Amino acid sequence: MSFSSALLHQDAFIEGRWHPAAARFPVHDPATGECLAQVARGDRASARLAIDAAERALPAWRATPAKARATLLRRWYELMVAHSEEIATLLTREQGKPLAEARGEVLYAASFIEWFAEEARRIAGDVLEHPQADRRILVLKQSVGVCAAITPWNFPAAMIARKAGAALAAGCTMVVKPASQTPLTALAMAALANEAGLPAGIFNVVPGPAGEVGAELAENPQVRKLSFTGSTAVGRKLMAQCAPTLKKLSLELGGNAPFIVFDDADVDAAVEGALAAKYRNSGQTCVCANRFYVQRGVYDAFAAKLAERVAMLKVGNGLEAGVEQGPLIDEAALAKVQEHVADAQALGARVLCGGRALGGTWYAPTVLADVRADAQITREETFGPVAALVRFKEEREAVALANASEYGLAAYFYGRDLGRVFRVAEALEYGMVGVNTGLFSNEVGPFGGIKQSGFGREGSKYGLTEYLELKYLCLGL
Ligand code: ADP
Repeated sequence: MSFSSALLHQDAFIEGRWHPAAARFPVHDPATGECLAQVARGDRASARLAIDAAERALPAWRATPAKARATLLRRWYELMVAHSEEIATLLTREQGKPLAEARGEVLYAASFIEWFAEEARRIAGDVLEHPQADRRILVLKQSVGVCAAITPWNFPAAMIARKAGAALAAGCTMVVKPASQTPLTALAMAALANEAGLPAGIFNVVPGPAGEVGAELAENPQVRKLSFTGSTAVGRKLMAQCAPTLKKLSLELGGNAPFIVFDDADVDAAVEGALAAKYRNSGQTCVCANRFYVQRGVYDAFAAKLAERVAMLKVGNGLEAGVEQGPLIDEAALAKVQEHVADAQALGARVLCGGRALGGTWYAPTVLADVRADAQITREETFGPVAALVRFKEEREAVALANASEYGLAAYFYGRDLGRVFRVAEALEYGMVGVNTGLFSNEVGPFGGIKQSGFGREGSKYGLTEYLELKYLCLGL
């Protein structure tokens, strides 16, 4: 193994200690195929160990004053920032995204821990007027208890931070099962949590197969809440697995974001927004624009400018300077992109740039014009660097096309008319709408979807409420 880093850990992290296992699984660099690490393969028993540890740690953590919890979280945040370069390198190695994006993700991840450290101190209950004079109503907010997180490979740091930051700030303890493609970033975060002085058992990481570690987290009655980010298909399965124990759930599932460009849009700004919304992480984010609806007055100009910019994107190993497009995560991801492009072409789409595989799991950043509104790419999440352009005439048509999806995570549109901005923003059936911007993710705004994109919100002041229960006290005086 040619790879070394002080933050490279290969064992599960349970109750403040590293837990080796006889069975191990490899983690590969998607850019080179190199094996980076052999990680301890968790199973039901190790997941139970972690859940038991989280349960033991709960009473003291829940009783720790918010100020003290906040101080510990703040230290974790500071360590993540101090080690951001090392974590970013690890992240690029196991995930493939360009180093500049990995750096951005680590700071984005850290920002959730900072935010929730701040919010921890503002968890406030309520005193309400009782209908009778000799009674008082108090509403307490208490931590949910032991929580579990199952996270995907596309944001190996951020998806964990925004769950764990909120959970720990609220006084919950947590067991994380990271994606098997990207457990190293999660384990590095655990090492820093430990260094920050978070008490043993508060934050545990158990990599391993979904069918064993994931299933235990979903089924174990000691776990009171599960937060999952991943595909809609797996979200449905987990919801069913959680039903017998009536777990609270947050599900951040798939998307198929529309990106509308109206005639009165600033076309150059829309092109910049499209680049950010579509090609970040090589198109592998759940809020990536998938379908572009462009009004006929600006269609040709937008298509030409976008294709010109996309053709210039530098493709390569994410560790190399200046690279803007890394490889896709695996062969299956590449096959899906190829299938979507072939289907669009069979229905008459024109390739303005890209449109081909480049060896390994790289796919050339692509713009397709004249895509039919019923092509596969307009219905399914592509998770690759392909923009599909559909022409439209009227506002109503664009909104109807945009809403004709089972998904409801993110949508984007560009236009200047104030009346239209409000009409369209209110009509779009999505949890998040970017208006004249292609990027909206940060720790302050509530992230989440509707329809088949799931429920629950992460980040923001609302993200904390997912980890709190209300308790009603009725006092007789
Ligand atoms: P993606 O397409 O982003 O890989 P998945 O939904 O397949 O999305 O995976 C997201 C996370 O869910 C990963 O950590 C994966 O291991 C886990 N996972 C996949 N299948 C299951 C399952 N049946 N039960 C529990 N976890 C699962």
